[in-house]
Amino acid sequence: MEITGFKQSNKANFQPGRKSPVQYIVVHYTANRGDTAKNNIDYFARTETRTSAHYFVDEKEVWQSVRDEDTAYHCGAKTYKHPLCRNGSSIGVEMCIWDKAGKVRQGTVTKAIQVVRELMEQYNVPPECVLRHWDVTGKNCPLPMVENPSLWEDFKAKLKGDEEEMLDYPDWAKKTYQWYADMPEWARESVRKAVKRGLISTNADNSVSVLGVSLQTLVYLDRAGLLDK
Ligand SMILES: [Zn+2]
Repeated sequence: MEITGFKQSNKANFQPGRKSPVQYIVVHYTANRGDTAKNNIDYFARTETRTSAHYFVDEKEVWQSVRDEDTAYHCGAKTYKHPLCRNGSSIGVEMCIWDKAGKVRQGTVTKAIQVVRELMEQYNVPPECVLRHWDVTGKNCPLPMVENPSLWEDFKAKLKGDEEEMLDYPDWAKKTYQWYADMPEWARESVRKAVKRGLISTNADNSVSVLGVSLQTLVYLDRAGLLDK
């Protein structure tokens, strides 16, 4: 994981080692306005709070405060909503989410998604095991994502690789084409050849149905001479 730096939390704030392998990732917010990841790890290094998290994220930096192999005190409670997720089985990620006016900093959310995705990959954590603090104990954390669940749904949606890659496709790839005139010019000749060869069937009105994502492949086949025979 690309982290900006590591500065260990005060020893009173975490437990060396962990009870079980990492199975969950718990997302939090710091509840401060206009703070930075660095502000937070400095604070937790010098202050005995008996609370901690593994990572602090703002829109530019990711600072680590507790090693992954140690137990941070980030989601402990007297009673739990979640049957299994505990400090000993999870990694805690804190977002510096509020700007000075108390508005959500989208850059922090984007960076947190990146961090969570990397942790998911590293520890083989499925999307259903990425939780808000609220899902674990009922605490209003991260508050903006409890008050506005669609923010959390967006966050979760972006943890799934395929969907994000789909969003990155150019417009021409997202369409389905019926007529040559609607296709990008660079693909038309290759599609014509593919139709002629019977690779693509035509409808009674001579229209076709070609997914935009397959246009490039058809052009490659054409360039390789495979549509000319
Ligand atoms: Zn929290």
